[in-house]
Amino acid sequence: MFEKILIANRGEVALRIQRACRELGIKTVVVHSEADREAKYVKLADESVCIGPAPSSASYLNVPAIISAAEVTDAEAVHPGWGFLAENADFAERVAQSGFVFIGPKADTIRLLGDKVSAKAVMKKAGLPVVPGVEGPLPQEPNDIVKMARSIGYPVIVKAAGGGGGRGMRVVHTEAALLTAVQMTRAEAQATFGNPVVYLEKYLESPRHVEFQVLADRFRNAIHLGDRDCSMQRRHQKVIEEAPAQQLHERSRARIAERCAEACHKLGYEGAATFEFLYENSEFYLIEINTRLQVEHPVTEMITGIDIVQQQIRIAAGEKLAIRQRDVQFRGHAIECRVNAEDPYRFTPSPGRITSFHMPGGPGIRVDSHAYNGYFVPPHYDSLLGKIIAYGDNRAQAIARLGIALSETVIEGIKTNIPLHQELLRDAAFLRGGTSIHYLEQRLAKLAREE
Ligand code: ADP
Repeated sequence: MFEKILIANRGEVALRIQRACRELGIKTVVVHSEADREAKYVKLADESVCIGPAPSSASYLNVPAIISAAEVTDAEAVHPGWGFLAENADFAERVAQSGFVFIGPKADTIRLLGDKVSAKAVMKKAGLPVVPGVEGPLPQEPNDIVKMARSIGYPVIVKAAGGGGGRGMRVVHTEAALLTAVQMTRAEAQATFGNPVVYLEKYLESPRHVEFQVLADRFRNAIHLGDRDCSMQRRHQKVIEEAPAQQLHERSRARIAERCAEACHKLGYEGAATFEFLYENSEFYLIEINTRLQVEHPVTEMITGIDIVQQQIRIAAGEKLAIRQRDVQFRGHAIECRVNAEDPYRFTPSPGRITSFHMPGGPGIRVDSHAYNGYFVPPHYDSLLGKIIAYGDNRAQAIARLGIALSETVIEGIKTNIPLHQELLRDAAFLRGGTSIHYLEQRLAKLAREE
């Protein structure tokens, strides 16, 4: 096992990784920007290194600074968390070339699966159903593009091969809008992801977002930890997540879960992976694979009792998975809400000083947050303050506990989206379960009209 790990991230995930390391008896080095210098989780780490000024381009994305922080502190491995460099194959390569272990799959695997066009092709071969569309990148010739869209049938969605974070996508309902949409998405993809390649998919009208968690070691042992429903989204960003997903076709659920694990086995995948699907009319359609830890991993941890971050570290250290598929037992239900520092209805970020902070507790409640009383939420990064997660014997109990937890929660000095979560937990359609990825936006639009 490693003696010391460098955490190349900030905020909540930096604290989550520290906790896993501490339990494994591993020392931690946290890198931080000047804006995060005073954060408590930075002080909690065994060592910390300032790697640059506040803007992430100069700090959390500053590869040479992160590598030299690992060198001066004698860290053996680097955990990238999520966001920032977590799915950057060049970073994984640089880490390995500099003599450190990257906690995640090999750079080539990240490259292959990070490109959504090649990922879909590989996974289709591995027997996973993908969203109908055109295989491969879109050609330059406008006539060819028009023909392709016709063959798929409208509506279609233009997506960036290198896209992520819900950006680089455009829905097209008519042929008249197609070419402009392609052009705009290409330009945006180049500017945001440095890769202008776009592709075309059928736009599914009212699917749910269901994803599967897989763990795989270097000995080609691969297991799945079941599924999560992340359909409650705004602008393709998840707001509430739960496990297990409700009202799925049981046989397809089991078959897809097995195939995801099998695909990792075939690929020689090492680490934690998430296979994201759209689910409509009892069918699954793969949209992408994430080669890193996901924000919503706690709901899976709650229903399986397996610490996914510790498993990532063990796998990276070369250990064999100690859990076999038949050891994985699913118990109860877990729901997570993402607490963001933002206006609950306008969604504008709300950075600043937290003047009062009280977190909930009680049976089945877990809080993953780096915030505290007096914490200053810097304006430079995303607005995730943390998550409140509730576990129950069943979905109704998990929802009830989460509702109580939110009513106990106090965060003052900044705005948060807790009022929105409280409303959603009382929403009749959410309580029934199985709402589509458009539900939240439709509901927000209705609210805006009524105002
Ligand atoms: P990202 O990598 O940016 O998260 P994804 O490909 O995972 O992008 O898609 C994010 C979200 O966008 C999905 O959860 C879904 O809400 C929506 N989406 C993506 N592809 C389609 C599609 N073909 N039809 C309908 N919605 C889609």
